[in-house]
Amino acid sequence: MTLNSFMPVKLVTGPGCVRQSAKELAKLGRTCLIVTGKTSAKACGALQDVTETLEQNGQTWILFDGIGQNPRLTDCMTAAEKAIAAGADFILGIGGGSALDAAKCIAVLAANPGLTQTQLYAFDWANAPLKNVAVGTTAGTGSEVTKVSVITTPDGRKKSFHHEAIYPVLALGDPCYTQSMSPMVTRSTMVDALAHCAESFFSRAANHISRLYAVEGIRLLLPIFREIAENGCAALDYDTREKLYCASIYGGLAINVTGTCFPHTMGYLLTESFGIPHGTACAVFQRDFYEYNKAAVPQLAEEYLERIGCSQEEYFRLLEKLTPPCEITMTEERIAQAHSRWVNNGSMAKCQGEFLPHMADDILRRKFLAK
Ligand code: NAP
Ligand code: FE
Repeated sequence: MTLNSFMPVKLVTGPGCVRQSAKELAKLGRTCLIVTGKTSAKACGALQDVTETLEQNGQTWILFDGIGQNPRLTDCMTAAEKAIAAGADFILGIGGGSALDAAKCIAVLAANPGLTQTQLYAFDWANAPLKNVAVGTTAGTGSEVTKVSVITTPDGRKKSFHHEAIYPVLALGDPCYTQSMSPMVTRSTMVDALAHCAESFFSRAANHISRLYAVEGIRLLLPIFREIAENGCAALDYDTREKLYCASIYGGLAINVTGTCFPHTMGYLLTESFGIPHGTACAVFQRDFYEYNKAAVPQLAEEYLERIGCSQEEYFRLLEKLTPPCEITMTEERIAQAHSRWVNNGSMAKCQGEFLPHMADDILRRKFLAK
């Protein structure tokens, strides 16, 4: 029974937590670069809460609102130049995983002017990253509590880097911000949270603590999934939003210990090549993932269902109902082209048993091969 884990983020959650954390923010320096996507940080009220709090503290801020979904390294480099020009002391991301991951990357780039892509991914950083703060507005990635940043490099590939120096120093999670998510974003992000918990639970790297996080995350999600399977997710109340947000943090805490498994690796392909949103792309492989584990580690698969309080039949039904549609097809050539991605892949190696590259090909064929 091991409990090995490390999570140094000061996490504050609940309504009003940004304004209530003024003193914490004041400690971080004079000038802040705020990093957001185009519209959601404004629409959900988080940007106003952050800027007014910084101003009341006498801190100055500048805004970079050019981060798109699956944030691009080139945009992070542009933002870092802006941070350097303004003499920013810290970076504050407001958004879903895209803006939060971008803020982590910008924190590295801004502390190391002229850093190349190769140096970034080789951790060839002369200087420690600037401090970064995460203000979450989706309930999915849990990036608030991870040392991971997933960035799209100029070749169009999603590539992550993991480093303890990029943990946010402060994460502020006000579930009110998530209330403006569309039903599509709500669904895609909630199934990402489930994917994190499920993949973490079955990871070879799982331990007693990470499994507690994973099980708690799913236990928060399942009653909501049942409700949404019946009534849709157009009108979720605050309590439900709060539970979804907390589940996403549990998922983040779980993968912070273990990393993810094959659904995430394979999901990246669907996002890069077909534009499928991240959560949906990982969720479509969850049934395959459970079935694979049931064959590889039947006792653990049974323990999983027992601990989350769900039958296999219901689990599959909820996955099917909750995963947004992913109507794509692939040719044999496309599947063959992807094959090299599965070879010597770290996340696949974390699966129980032995998940081999041809198994990934078979899953793609079964699900997506053009008839
Ligand atoms: P996202 O890409 O950050 O955002 C998706 C969409 O939702 C965007 O259009 C965004 O608008 C909008 N949005 C965000 N918050 C909203 C709100 N409160 N109200 C209305 N719209 C809102 O989605 P995400 O699923 O949270 O993040 C996915 C990214 O995180 C992927 O790149 C994935 O690889 C990464 N990820 C990272 C980790 C980690 O540990 N670091 C873990 C899992 C996934 P705007 O563009 O206007 O903001
Ligand atoms: Fe994810």
